[in-house]
Amino acid sequence: MTARILVVDDIIANVKLLEARLTSEYFDVTTANSGPQALEICQKTPIDVILLDVMMPGMDGFEVCRKLKSDPRTQYIPVIMITALDQASDKIRGLEAGADDFLTKPVDDIALITRVKNLSRLKTVTDELIARLVNQNQIQGDVFLESLREAKNNAEPCQILTIDDHPRSACRIAEALPDYAMEIESDAQAALFKLTEVNYDLLILSLSLKNSDGLRICSQIRSMERTRHLPILTITDPGDEARLLRALDMGVNDYLVRPIDTHELVARVQTQLKRKRYTDFLQNQFDERAELAIVDPLTGLYNRRFMDGNLKNLMDEALRSGKPLTVLVSDIDYFKSVNDSHGHQIGDLVLKQFSKRIRQNTRGIDLAIRFGGEEFVIIMPETSMDQALVVAERLRNRIATEPFRVSEDLSIAITTSIGLGSFEDIHDTSEKILARADQALYQAKRNGRNQVVTQFLESGMPQSQNAAAEYA
Ligand code: GH3
Ligand code: MG
Ligand code: MG
Repeated sequence: MTARILVVDDIIANVKLLEARLTSEYFDVTTANSGPQALEICQKTPIDVILLDVMMPGMDGFEVCRKLKSDPRTQYIPVIMITALDQASDKIRGLEAGADDFLTKPVDDIALITRVKNLSRLKTVTDELIARLVNQNQIQGDVFLESLREAKNNAEPCQILTIDDHPRSACRIAEALPDYAMEIESDAQAALFKLTEVNYDLLILSLSLKNSDGLRICSQIRSMERTRHLPILTITDPGDEARLLRALDMGVNDYLVRPIDTHELVARVQTQLKRKRYTDFLQNQFDERAELAIVDPLTGLYNRRFMDGNLKNLMDEALRSGKPLTVLVSDIDYFKSVNDSHGHQIGDLVLKQFSKRIRQNTRGIDLAIRFGGEEFVIIMPETSMDQALVVAERLRNRIATEPFRVSEDLSIAITTSIGLGSFEDIHDTSEKILARADQALYQAKRNGRNQVVTQFLESGMPQSQNAAAEYA
């Protein structure tokens, strides 16, 4: 989806010029000729980035910006202030009003497109973050705004690496960014080594290094897995447009032209870091949710949904390799009475410890699953019925012989009944194997619990019944 840019300027010719340039880069453009008109549009239309002229009659750009940034509905729309050349005081006032970046008149084409691209990407990530947080329903209104700020501020200080062999320039960069953990490296090879070792949040890179080629460093950084998405801000010399364009082509995110304007530096660093923070936050959330989808939160074992997908795959694998596969179903005996006597929370503790013992008694290739309530399944690839019987008996024994210690002065004796089913032939299905294991479990319960029973095959006799007796 293309970003929608609002261009605000009282001079129609300026509006037309910016509109033409942005449209040729496939942005959607909306225009306004005054501050109040811009504010009205922002209330009605979703805008991704605002290009805002500072000097306008009536309400000037600073006031428009302040109003936008103090309204919860518009505060996340990035604002680029368009100032007259070399008006440092305008930049300070702009930053105070909440502006996200600056462009100076006459507006340079590369600067315009780079700035708009960066801020519309930030807006996309911010929108995604807001949508997710609101969607989860746990966060609303002010609380939500708070948590978004936390994503930005509350974490560790951002780590920035600066590669610059010009001592004065490096010093100036460090001084302008006192709130971040800053490392300065003048040697490109040493810097590349650091980049493979440390997770930086941002790289500031001089394109005019004396002893190495800044463009080559960019390309190396983009080709390494660890730094493929690392935000890069380059420092270029005035007039070196050809190299700047190549750097942007290579995936450099933004740039500053020497002499470094510290206000611009701060604004650009903040944009890159915000986007990185928000993206990391979204990514972590996604990872957590992916895990939630397959893991049972109480016990940390896989859940039933995960099993459904994987049992079939493991059966296919068993068919291909000609190796056996056995499924163990375990149900805690009289678990209801644990809850009834000691409460649900103690019941939960028992389930956790039970799962831990299951995990201790399974190999890496086995899949341990909480099937539901107090019922568990272990899928054992490359395991015959006879071998599974040994495993099951060992587990039954480990549960029964050592009482479950749920508090300083309470230990509860627990037993489990176990049924086993194994993969028989090409016509077998996961449902049939589970049904046979379940039937065996039912028999174990009927026989008096705390025992292992193997599947009944067509012959009508439990398989390996003697082996079971040996361990009883
Ligand atoms: P049986 O030997 O026949 O299996 O008897 P049982 O009491 O274990 O079987 P039943 O199916 O009657 O009861 C299972 C109990 O497990 C009832 C339910 O409240 C409890 N339960 C299920 N899930 C949880 C849970 O997550 N936490 C706790 N504490 N209890 C649970
Ligand atoms: Mg039970
Ligand atoms: Mg049960």
